[in-house]
Amino acid sequence: NEEEIRCIGCGAILQTTDKTKPGYTPAAALEKGLETGEVYCQRCFRLRHYNEIQDVHLTDDDFLKLLNEIGSKDALIVNVVDVFDFNGSVIPGLHRFVGKNPVLLVGNKVDLLPKSQKRGRLTQWLRERAHEIGLRPVDVVLTSAMKTNEIDELKEAIEKYRNGKDVYVVGVTNVGKSSIINQTIKSSAGVQDLITVSQFPGTTLDQIEIPLDNGKALIDTPGIIHRHQMAHVLGAKDLRLIAPKKEIKPKVYQLNEAQTLFFGGVARFDFIKGERSSFTCYVSNDLTIHRTKLEKADELYAKQKGALLQPPRMEEKDAFPELVRFEFSIKEKSDIVFAGLGWITVAKPGVVVAGWAPKGIDVLIRKSII
Ligand code: GDP
Repeated sequence: NEEEIRCIGCGAILQTTDKTKPGYTPAAALEKGLETGEVYCQRCFRLRHYNEIQDVHLTDDDFLKLLNEIGSKDALIVNVVDVFDFNGSVIPGLHRFVGKNPVLLVGNKVDLLPKSQKRGRLTQWLRERAHEIGLRPVDVVLTSAMKTNEIDELKEAIEKYRNGKDVYVVGVTNVGKSSIINQTIKSSAGVQDLITVSQFPGTTLDQIEIPLDNGKALIDTPGIIHRHQMAHVLGAKDLRLIAPKKEIKPKVYQLNEAQTLFFGGVARFDFIKGERSSFTCYVSNDLTIHRTKLEKADELYAKQKGALLQPPRMEEKDAFPELVRFEFSIKEKSDIVFAGLGWITVAKPGVVVAGWAPKGIDVLIRKSII
């Protein structure tokens, strides 16, 4: 039997088959490395040479193990969430895993929300939502991996709350955790030479340690995938289209009862019952919205999916999951959230609406974020 070869950076067992799993290295690189006796996995290689961290995807079991490890440490836990997809970025049961450790909640991607959004209101909203799921963060900080000054503020907050301890950064995939850490590395000059990568004992999870000044470290933990995101039903190209890249320009629709909005062909919103009112859509500026009559909506979708209503594109439309309907009676100003796609704010209590999303994608209602 072949001997297991381990990455000299992180100790993960090297493999050449799955890019998303720990220890991946291209076959050619492995061969070359064996000649020189220095074999790194691709993740460590990139980290050393380009100061870039790549994500490694974990199984649920690996992730649970990792969370359990964290509870047994004496550290500050930094939980990164995506303010554009808060519901898709919470880690279920995190409060049970952190033990006595303080949690700093970081709302990333603030650059996507309208500039008029009051930061105080947003942090308060995040705090309330955290409390609802049992998490009691010591503080809530907003940030953007795209803005250097925001990262500096985050670093200050971490310094303030860590009290000389190690820092563990946790988050589900796609919240921007790697981007934040990459920014942090880049702004700490010369640090790449010091980076050590270590393992949780008894697991194959590699973790990146960025040294902090007093012999402690900021530790990046691999993220876990949330299954109920659009990422699982759309191709990479379409995902880029529906994921907003810059400040969202909200689109306001005055709708009468029995009108429908289509978001490309990936989501649908019906105004079922109530007086004429306004609905504000927070989705990628590149996603086209079509208005139609509720009674015509099914027919339009059947005919135009993949054509007028894109994404999905024509060649994908047959494999695209059917849209599933969720109905809501609005009691207070609320958002109807399409996981990973955006949300529609319904201002008027008393109306009845329905949200449709591809099978497997959550549609949910929450207290309005804006
Ligand atoms: P990770 O899986 O949590 O490590 O997330 P990544 O760092 O890979 O980021 C996921 C996606 O979100 C990438 O397309 C990033 O470019 C984007 N992203 C990360 N941080 C921000 C941010 O602050 N603002 C915006 N607009 N996009 C971000």
